[in-house]
Amino acid sequence: MESTLSIVKPDGVRKNVIGNVVSRFEAAGLKIAAMKMIHMTKGEAEGFYAVHKERPFFGSLTDFMSSGPCVVMVLKGENAIKKNRELMGATDPAQAEPGTIRRDLADNKEENIAHGSDAPETAAFEISYFFNAFEIVG
Ligand code: ADP
Ligand code: MG
Repeated sequence: MESTLSIVKPDGVRKNVIGNVVSRFEAAGLKIAAMKMIHMTKGEAEGFYAVHKERPFFGSLTDFMSSGPCVVMVLKGENAIKKNRELMGATDPAQAEPGTIRRDLADNKEENIAHGSDAPETAAFEISYFFNAFEIVG
């Protein structure tokens, strides 16, 4: 069993596709082990995306991530990290495979509906950024 962090980003909440995204995880056999809606401050978004702080899009990305509420989730399952990344598709929705979350629902490379951890170490950091042990079931 592996755990990963998923976020329905503010564009996904604005577009009313929270359920659409969550239903794809459930259909793929991933379990929702924790879930809540939050509205990050700019500083909280900067802390979450600290690995990208040297990137040219960091300011814009953290403005976007703090622009409205998002839904943060812990997904559990076999190969949950990889499975979630496959369901999301490539970062740029135009490059993502048809049938993926980003290809089906996202508008552009920045506002791309979903986040998913990319490795066990980042998953551990990202889960602990939003959840304590009592908030995670299973
Ligand atoms: P992923 O979310 O697929 O793991 P990255 O970790 O590379 O992608 O980037 C983090 C987030 O930063 C992306 O999901 C997207 O919202 C944003 N992003 C990535 N590359 C760009 C870019 N070239 N321009 C604008 N935003 C970007
Ligand atoms: Mg990433």
